[in-house]
Amino acid sequence: MTERSDCEVAVVGGGMVGTALACALARGGIHVALLESRAPERAWPSDTVDLRVSALTHASQKMLTTIGAWSGMEQRGVSPYRFMRVWDADYPGELSFDGADVGGDILGHIVENRVTVAALWDLLETLPGADVACPAQVVDLQRSEHDATLVLEDGSRLSADLIVAADGKASRLRELAGIDITGWSYGQSALVATVQPGRWHEETAYQRFLSEGPLAFLPLRDGACSIVWSCSLESTKKNLAMDDETFLRALTEASGGILGTMERVGPRAAFPLGLQFARKYTDDRVALVGDAAHAMHPLAGQGANMGLLDAAALAEVICQARSQGRPIFSRHVLRRYERWRKGDNFAMLGGMDALKRMYGVSFAPWGHLRSTGMRCIDKTPPLKNFFTRYAMGIRGDLPKLAYGVPCWRS
Ligand SMILES: Cc1cc2nc3c(=O)[nH]c(=O)nc-3n(C[C@H](O)[C@H](O)[C@H](O)COP(=O)(O)OP(=O)(O)OC[C@H]3O[C@@H](n4cnc5c(N)ncnc54)[C@H](O)[C@@H]3O)c2cc1C
Repeated sequence: MTERSDCEVAVVGGGMVGTALACALARGGIHVALLESRAPERAWPSDTVDLRVSALTHASQKMLTTIGAWSGMEQRGVSPYRFMRVWDADYPGELSFDGADVGGDILGHIVENRVTVAALWDLLETLPGADVACPAQVVDLQRSEHDATLVLEDGSRLSADLIVAADGKASRLRELAGIDITGWSYGQSALVATVQPGRWHEETAYQRFLSEGPLAFLPLRDGACSIVWSCSLESTKKNLAMDDETFLRALTEASGGILGTMERVGPRAAFPLGLQFARKYTDDRVALVGDAAHAMHPLAGQGANMGLLDAAALAEVICQARSQGRPIFSRHVLRRYERWRKGDNFAMLGGMDALKRMYGVSFAPWGHLRSTGMRCIDKTPPLKNFFTRYAMGIRGDLPKLAYGVPCWRS
């Protein structure tokens, strides 16, 4: 690769979050470069399903619609879900959510990660002022008072006013910027697979809390479901090693028969579970977004949604600085982004960690308390509506894009 020309913002990492940010910035007239080490999947046989799916909230949908990616996602296939049911395997009580209770039609969409990424890449390539470098593996970061420079594996360099680390949980950029992380492992992993249950899922997301961790069924097209089964490392190893027939029997039992007998399963994979957050989201000419800034247990399906809100907030403060003629990399601008997103992310991370621990205790009186709490929430509409809105991403001080308002217009 030859020496690249300068750009205003270089985004490292072309996953959902980095590419959404690059699209929003390019829409705002910012000269942006996206650097990604691996080319994403752009086309695939219609009868296959990505192992990685995400439950995307209303707020995420609004953002993706406003930047212009949602129609491309719809063309590739998104699966709406209208209801959600959550219950404990060992104690009575259930929580059920319905988008209609808070004036909506649906609660959100289950979307294969490759669908979101491919639609965003298609869009980015059409936007003037957006450059894409792929494959481009960033190996070093150098900062001076004039700019920041990325060094790529092939020795080429790219300088920018601001570098954004969107390179995931094991972010190399975060490390190169000297930003520390805190966190812990849950000693668990999440097994993911696509299954065909015997019964129609009724556009409902199901989550059953078992003694080792939650088992989720996320509804997809043609009646299939994507499962996320959180277990100890040992149990996950066993579940991965089983032949299909034995696995389907174990899954039917773990599901409590809610969707009948599990009939078919595709390839299985597992991801280690833990909680991690960066001590700070910004440094001199550097900002972190998405999993590079925070990663958590997938039990409420919020990681990508939080990352997209980071992208929306950062795009907004940058576009605003630009419209006011201020440098987009100034401490003031970066601190504004950090203050805006850190609190919301922290509350979500803390909430998920507490929920994970609350359901990890098998002590009987605690189980009864949990079950009473669940019933109380289910029977108290204002409380239930609060949680429904929160899960839909309708809360607090959201960036403009999350309301469907372009952040590049003042
Ligand atoms: C089992 C499971 C289920 C989940 N379910 C949900 C859900 O239902 N809803 C939800 O909102 N979230 C969910 N999540 C979380 C969600 O998947 C992540 O939060 C999201 O994918 C993070 O996106 P990202 O763009 O920040 O990072 P990533 O998707 O990790 O993207 C990082 C990108 O950076 C690139 N990269 C890395 N290093 C470099 C480098 N040095 N140079 C150049 N490029 C680089 C990588 O190739 C990659 O493309 C789930 C997670 C798991 C594990």
